[in-house]
Amino acid sequence: MSSSLRPLIAGNWKMNGLKRESAEELKSLIHKASEQNSVGCDILICPPATLVASMAELANGSPVSIGGQDCHANEKGAHTGDTSAQMLKDAGADYVLVGHSERRTDHDESNEKVKAKAEAALKAGLIAVVCVGETLQERESGQTLSVISDQVSRSLPAGGTAENLVIAYEPVWAIGTGKTPTVEDVADVHAHIRNDLQALLKDADGVRLLYGGSVKGSNAAELMNVAHVNGALVGGASLKAEDFWPIVETVL
Ligand code: PEP
Repeated sequence: MSSSLRPLIAGNWKMNGLKRESAEELKSLIHKASEQNSVGCDILICPPATLVASMAELANGSPVSIGGQDCHANEKGAHTGDTSAQMLKDAGADYVLVGHSERRTDHDESNEKVKAKAEAALKAGLIAVVCVGETLQERESGQTLSVISDQVSRSLPAGGTAENLVIAYEPVWAIGTGKTPTVEDVADVHAHIRNDLQALLKDADGVRLLYGGSVKGSNAAELMNVAHVNGALVGGASLKAEDFWPIVETVL
C-alpha cells in the first residue's frame, strides 16, 4: 500500500445470503485470517440485515468485523421495514455503509439523506462508510470531479473524524460490471477527495478512502497500490471467502 493508514477491506454481500451457507463462508474467512501471525488490515463483512446478529456472534473476537448495508436516520419509530443504526449496533455491528449507489438509485437517497444516516451511525457508535461515485454519463461529460466534490461535501456527517468515518469511491458504472477505471483515474479521484477533505475535516489525512467497483483478486494489488487508496469495498467477489481472501492478501 502507498500509505501508512491501516487498510480496510470491506465486503458488501448486498441482498445475498441465507443462514447456513453464509455462516460457512464467514467461518472460512475467519479461519484464513486467524492463520496469520498478525493481520495488517481491518476486514469487514456487511451481510444483509437478517444476518447481522448471527454473523456478528460468529465473528466476535475474530479479526473480522461486521457491518450493516444501510440504516435509517432516526433511532426508532414508525418506519416499517427499516433498521436503525442503534439496532445494528445492538446486533453486534461496528460499521454501516451509507449512500451506496444502489440505495441512492433504488431508494432515491439524496446527499442530505445520506448525511442524516451517517450522523445517525456516528451517534450510535458505528463507523460510517459513506459511498460516493459518478455515473457513466457524468464521467463521459467530464463532470466526475465536480460530482464527487458535491457528494462528499453534502453527504459527510457533522462530527466525522478519522476514527468514525470512511469514504468509499465507487464509480456507478464499475459496480458489478467487471469494468474498472484506469489506475490514473482512480488516483485523480482519490487525490481530489483527499484534497476536498482538508477543507472539511481536521484530521482529513487519517480518513481511509476505499476504492470499490469490480475489485477482484486479479486487479486488487494494482488498485491497492494507488496513492490515497486505503482499501477496497467489494461486492461480488466478497460472497465467497476463496474469492475475497486474495483481495485481503494484497494488503496484509
Ligand atoms: C459494491 O457493491 O459496493 C461493489 C463494489 O460491487 P462489485 O464489487 O460487485 O462491483
